[in-house]
Amino acid sequence: MRVDLGFVEKCETWRLESRFFPSKVGGKPAWLNLKDIPGEKDVQCEYCEEPCIFLCQIYAPYEDNETAFHRSVYIFICQKPECCKLNKNGNLKVFRSQLPKKNEFYPSEPPVEEPDWRTDISIIKWVRSCKVCGIFAPNHCSKCKCVNYCCRAHQIFDWKCGHKESCGRDPLTIQNSKLLFPEYEIVIEAENEREDNDESNCEKEEEEIKKYETMIESGQAGTLQNEDVQSELLSMANQKEDEIFSEFRLTIDQYPDQILRYNRGGKVLYISAENKINEVPKCSECNEERQFEFQIMPQLLNFLNLKNAYECIDWGILAVFTCINSCTPKNGYVTEYVWKQDIIETNSDNI
Ligand SMILES: [Zn+2]
Ligand SMILES: [Zn+2]
Ligand SMILES: [Zn+2]
Ligand SMILES: [Zn+2]
Repeated sequence: MRVDLGFVEKCETWRLESRFFPSKVGGKPAWLNLKDIPGEKDVQCEYCEEPCIFLCQIYAPYEDNETAFHRSVYIFICQKPECCKLNKNGNLKVFRSQLPKKNEFYPSEPPVEEPDWRTDISIIKWVRSCKVCGIFAPNHCSKCKCVNYCCRAHQIFDWKCGHKESCGRDPLTIQNSKLLFPEYEIVIEAENEREDNDESNCEKEEEEIKKYETMIESGQAGTLQNEDVQSELLSMANQKEDEIFSEFRLTIDQYPDQILRYNRGGKVLYISAENKINEVPKCSECNEERQFEFQIMPQLLNFLNLKNAYECIDWGILAVFTCINSCTPKNGYVTEYVWKQDIIETNSDNI
């Protein structure tokens, strides 16, 4: 089955606006439905009850579903390290939105990739969104009434981060706040269509996999040299044989920068044999099954400017499951399911 891979790239910010249907990381969400956007309660972290922050969105229409001619899936995450618990998903939120070709927000023709094209297609026309994080904002600054906030915490954050000085003076220079993750475009390419990969490479890859597997089985992994993969394989093999982990490493080693594996209806590429998902709850809207759609890879963590490796958010993989029918959300956005799988350090550390 064909797997699409996603890679981050820097690009001009105008390309990441809603009117161009982007897949992207960081910044504010580029909402698809511009009206019924999620609010504070929808994105609330289960542990600290503050709003989760936008992590990424994938533009993924269903070719055979007219109601999903446009379709985007959004992931939010709580930025507090203490809310990031091993193999728990309470610090994560996923939303799905979709639109038919004919809709009230966008023209039927595909967008023209120019900065000035249809700048009137903007959320400002439809709904108030939080200056800090981009979700629905029922509150505004009571002094200038020019900026909106989703919650008191974000109003206070903004006040401390500069609105105190600019209040009433310069409401138009709204920049991305410091709370947000750095912004990138996600570029999607088919796994076996990356130009630097030809058939001989694939064969070589398979040979390598076999070689590693044999070595791990026979306990010879210690004789491997060069590069990180080998040393990580070695430490894993020493700790505990984990074929799933070595398969994970070898699969992504082909394109080590992949931050996304998109494989709708396919299988999760697990990072560990422990804490695989056992039950995916049914669609909260139509009660149908949910299927695996894509996973966010740990490589994305490298692009998020996280301060301290021992004191920040983390994940092994984030596997996203969505309604198999991609039913039409009644209120613009429907919550979908995400599973966070981590690698648990076995032995020594806990003794
Ligand atoms: Zn939290
Ligand atoms: Zn906010
Ligand atoms: Zn103000
Ligand atoms: Zn559904």
